[in-house]
Amino acid sequence: MTRQDQPTSKLTALEVACRRHGLPLTVQRRVILHALASRDDHPSADEVLAHVRRRLPEVSRTTVYRVLDTLVKLGLAVRICSPGAGVRFDPRTDRHHHLVCVRCARVIDFEAPALNALPLPEARPRAFTIHDYSIHFRGLCADCAKRADGRDKGPLRRPARAPGGVR
Ligand SMILES: [Zn+2]
Ligand SMILES: [Zn+2]
Repeated sequence: MTRQDQPTSKLTALEVACRRHGLPLTVQRRVILHALASRDDHPSADEVLAHVRRRLPEVSRTTVYRVLDTLVKLGLAVRICSPGAGVRFDPRTDRHHHLVCVRCARVIDFEAPALNALPLPEARPRAFTIHDYSIHFRGLCADCAKRADGRDKGPLRRPARAPGGVR
């Protein structure tokens, strides 16, 4: 019988899964798990590193990256990637979808039961086994939409900071 309904269930589930896979719960690993499980904003590896360093200032980037890699390999976290948002980590491994803000690169979980049982295409690419899918919807988050609304109502503008200098 499981007790998945506890508030810390995500962290507990990750800890149990690590033990099941024979990964000792070192202090570092535990803090990294906590950093990942406590966020639903799909942090990048560097954001996880910054989060972990608030508790363990001396932790190395290599350690954090390696632990994140291991979690992904064991299926305890998912690496998600969306154009413009870079590579992020998601502690949720059940099927769900994402809203990606094209302006601030925020990635928000999106539940859509109707999209969870899409028929997989008949003609699949050869030599490719589909494991799962996740749909990314691109658009503007509420904050960015509000900001855009205050200035102009035109179509998407280019980011204010142009790389390589201003004209
Ligand atoms: Zn935004
Ligand atoms: Zn997610």
